[in-house]
Amino acid sequence: MTAYEPRAAELRELLNRYGREYYVLDAPTVPDAEYDRLFRELQALEEAHPELAGADSPTRRVGGAPLAEFDSVTHAVPMLSLSNAFSDMQLADPAERHAELIQFDERVRKGLDAAEVEYATEPKFDGLAISLLYENGVLTRAATRGDGVAGEQVTENVRTIRAIPLRLDGANPPALLEVRGEVLMLKRDFERLNADQVARGDKTFANPRNAAAGSLRQLDSRITAQRRLSFFAYAIAQVEGADWPDSHAGEMVWLKQLGFPVVEESLRPVVKGVAGLSAYYEGVQARRAGLPFEIDGVVYKVNRRVLQDALGFVSRAPRWAIAHKFPAEEALTVVEAIEEQV
Ligand code: NAD
Repeated sequence: MTAYEPRAAELRELLNRYGREYYVLDAPTVPDAEYDRLFRELQALEEAHPELAGADSPTRRVGGAPLAEFDSVTHAVPMLSLSNAFSDMQLADPAERHAELIQFDERVRKGLDAAEVEYATEPKFDGLAISLLYENGVLTRAATRGDGVAGEQVTENVRTIRAIPLRLDGANPPALLEVRGEVLMLKRDFERLNADQVARGDKTFANPRNAAAGSLRQLDSRITAQRRLSFFAYAIAQVEGADWPDSHAGEMVWLKQLGFPVVEESLRPVVKGVAGLSAYYEGVQARRAGLPFEIDGVVYKVNRRVLQDALGFVSRAPRWAIAHKFPAEEALTVVEAIEEQV
């Protein structure tokens, strides 16, 4: 046993507990920034001392186990997490400020043996991931991410979300299409919901993310229907019977044509290199407070799909994408369990 083992064990235990509260119960008890700090501490310990990194470590896992109350859906393509990069905006030197971003771009360029790489950018929506399956143009199944391998079947609940098409636009729909995106609650709908909760003497929700997760993972879809949930598509996982666009930006254009809400164009430019990424990051950060939905950072994805495939995956995240997180906006002050917890 090394000197680090007790701390690693303590971190694993804390992260497992916080993860369950966040992913399974929709009732976090610590701010995300605290979770991220502990997660990175464990990651650093495991990197320095690989013998500490068991296969069951929270650093190897995605999300939380699906709840037994829902039918379980095994994802044909695993629903992964994203690696994170942070910037210390207090640092004056841009090279120091964005050191982790620079490292990401270096890894990507090295992996592709390329001098410069084109990235598709997007906000990192603070909601929960959903997989939507369309067969011959009709929504037939919706599932949460769960632990990435298997999620919860929430089709009835998802059918109540007006932003999600029940049938694809266009004459010749693909035989099969799996779309992924984020279910979230707009800030104004979250405020209205909490005001209603107060008026009814019910408990309020800690933040829009928890309100969205708690509303979607209801056993009674009538409750979901009363909540105003929104949706943005951000990925395609499977296509059969149609051409699959060869870039992420192309996928977004196609998804829009098929009738999916995608984020407005000015929030998803294709940029080159670290200079393009950091300018986007700082620009979105300046717009953050004015956006109608909460975001906790931005996401960069290598734009060309052949290059994504060439880079592949590590255990819990793609090598071709990264979430560049914003500094914590505010700490979690009041933590309240969700009344209608599933
Ligand atoms: P993540 O949220 O960091 O990243 C992956 C997820 O990002 C995807 O599943 C998807 O839902 C989402 N996403 C949003 N916009 C996207 C876009 N444009 N493209 C692709 N994906 C997009 O992953 P994670 O591993 O589920 O969560 C970790 C985060 O959750 C932590 O960083 C922490 O902030 C929070 N968390 C908090 C607690 C807590 O107790 N407070 C516990 C566990 C996790």
